[in-house]
Amino acid sequence: MESILVINCGSSSVKFAVFPLETHQSEPSLTGLAERLGSDDATLSWKDETRTKTEKALGTAGVPDALKEILSLLPHPEDVVAVGHRVVHGGEAFSSSALIDEDVLRTLDECSALAPLHNPANIAGITAAQSLFPEIPHVAVFDTAFHQTLPEQAYLYPVPYAWYEEHKVRRYGFHGTSHQYVGQEAAAFLGKPFSEFSGITIHLGNGCSACAIREGRSADTSMGLSPLEGLMMGTRSGSIDPAIHEFIANATGCELADVMSALNRESGLLGVSGLSNDMRTVEAAAADGHPRAALALKIFCHQLAKVTMSLAASLTRLDAIVFTGGIGENSATVRSMACEQLALLGLSLDSAANAETVRGESGRIDDGTGTTCLVIPTNEEKMIADSAATFS
Ligand code: ADP
Repeated sequence: MESILVINCGSSSVKFAVFPLETHQSEPSLTGLAERLGSDDATLSWKDETRTKTEKALGTAGVPDALKEILSLLPHPEDVVAVGHRVVHGGEAFSSSALIDEDVLRTLDECSALAPLHNPANIAGITAAQSLFPEIPHVAVFDTAFHQTLPEQAYLYPVPYAWYEEHKVRRYGFHGTSHQYVGQEAAAFLGKPFSEFSGITIHLGNGCSACAIREGRSADTSMGLSPLEGLMMGTRSGSIDPAIHEFIANATGCELADVMSALNRESGLLGVSGLSNDMRTVEAAAADGHPRAALALKIFCHQLAKVTMSLAASLTRLDAIVFTGGIGENSATVRSMACEQLALLGLSLDSAANAETVRGESGRIDDGTGTTCLVIPTNEEKMIADSAATFS
């Protein structure tokens, strides 16, 4: 059966999924992850249709070797009719998915300055996959593309205009594929076309962002030039006073790069709790009376409510608020704490529905007295597969 291969290539990992083309099912027939690539204990793990997990050591494999291993897992590699690649940054060049050719690759390379950790790895994955599947279309699906509809008052920062003109400093936004997917699903749930849906989608994973969707288009979003802005995250600070950078560099004698590293890797849930970047650990410790874990959880929910409120400024109607991502799909505690602070937006949860809608369940968790609140598991791979399929 014809299928689409989806590849999400990082600097030391490759996530992949295979979707049968004809059945339009949202579950992949094969899914897996190659990780610790480039070290000496790389591994590949995968699940087939039976959902059993298999693991294999890959030794010192890099990305191209890992892709060859992934290819060998496909029962019928000749059935793959297109490859969809997740690409983090498409800059201002891409407002939708693109068939990859030399020009597109060159443009992606130019966008690397904006995402130095991600785009070079995405490009390496594309070129390695192209050499394994030279005859079929390869399609780039961008985290930034959905947000290209932001109006200029939302995407421009109030900084010297030359920073935008000369250095492309602006809000790009990320998680676009996820915001679009859950927005579309929310519209379907409400029985209206996506083009008539207005709401706020909240993606809470290791990275967290929220998006105001106005009549099916991204109108504002919390992440900015980089995925550091906006909500508090696992290890990222989210938005802070920009004066803190210089202040802490002067106070400690460290370099700006060290400050940036701390804001990216040692802040957020980890930085405040001193325990973990993992919400499960933080929640469990908070419930056990760990004061800094409880504080991390409180700040996380406060920031979430505050940013959600601010995004409402871009809307004239709130059809629904939608939670997704590992935390959004599973943490009844975070949803309930944040929504308590969103009463002004008409949010009031049904505590039983909130508690039950976890572990892949989707549905409505408000109590019916005000704004609709939905939990919708994201499926970025499926969106990427669907996009790639349109080029096959
Ligand atoms: P990524 O952004 O890497 O795709 P995920 O969307 O899987 O990550 O989200 C990871 C986050 O989801 C982690 O903080 C994890 O603790 C959290 N999470 C997963 N399950 C639960 C749960 N049952 N309760 C609270 N948080 C959870």
